[in-house]
Amino acid sequence: MANVPKLSDPQSELLDKVDVFIFDCDGVIWRGDSLIDGIAETLERLRKAGKKMFFVTNNSTKSRAGYKKKFDGLGLTDVPAEEIFSSSFAAAAYLEQSNFPTDGSKKVYVIGEVGIGEELDLIGIPHLGGPADNDKVANMGSGGRLEVDPDVGAVIVGFDRDVNYYKIQYAQLCINEGDAEFIATNLDAVTHLTDAQEWAGNGSMVGAIRGCTGQEPTVVGKPSPLMIEYLESKYGMDRSRICMVGDRLDTDVLFGTDNGLKSLLVLSGVTSEEKLLSPDNSITPDFYADDINAFFASETA
Ligand code: PLP
Ligand code: CA
Repeated sequence: MANVPKLSDPQSELLDKVDVFIFDCDGVIWRGDSLIDGIAETLERLRKAGKKMFFVTNNSTKSRAGYKKKFDGLGLTDVPAEEIFSSSFAAAAYLEQSNFPTDGSKKVYVIGEVGIGEELDLIGIPHLGGPADNDKVANMGSGGRLEVDPDVGAVIVGFDRDVNYYKIQYAQLCINEGDAEFIATNLDAVTHLTDAQEWAGNGSMVGAIRGCTGQEPTVVGKPSPLMIEYLESKYGMDRSRICMVGDRLDTDVLFGTDNGLKSLLVLSGVTSEEKLLSPDNSITPDFYADDINAFFASETA
């Protein structure tokens, strides 16, 4: 692949050209439940330098309020909830923008953990499924039919460690027979639930529903442009002065390059320098760095 410059004097190379940073979370700010060293100080310095920041995660298991608690718990108390964009929030925002009724006449069936339901509650969209269906069993004894609520107008598929056959069948019926819209929070193939190994990501749950419906979902998380369109409509920003910072090529860097943003790949998460620079890689960030502390590395070196 083409030469990607590694940040050495980032203040002149990047900081002056950027007003807004969009930070991916896992692999950039934290790894699992541990804050990456030096991040609190780096964010504080960026804020003092007048940079606007947003934090975007494809992990739908928490709501924006849930992530605010996580930021607070990690000592990042200066980050307000409005700067946090989880794919659970994006799914709810997508429905709101596409005029999904909020008068209770239509409902959402959720495959996912608590985050999606909490976001739907905030905009008044009734929902079923999610954790409430964790222990349900598709009972083929009662006439061989599973009856579904005819008012389900959308199915949101997010990461769900309690996904089961009942949930898959319910979603399948809502989409195939009830004409519900199929929405995926994200398609991450694998995720780093632990540092020890890769774990099957939401791509596996979406794959199950794709497999039984033959339908493609509307994806609301990175690299879909929905999140940047939302930010733009709310804050009216100049894309050429926004930098997407992430640890993953096929979600974060692609989100940047596809949407006209600058992009910085950091090596503090899932992508190695070897993978980035390999001839097999076709996704090219504008810059790469060891981690976001590199913004100020030249001053502290
Ligand atoms: N989905 C799940 C379930 C995860 O656990 C993670 C990372 O831990 C992600 C997605 C990716 O999150 P991010 O977009 O913050 O890297
Ligand atoms: Ca990440």
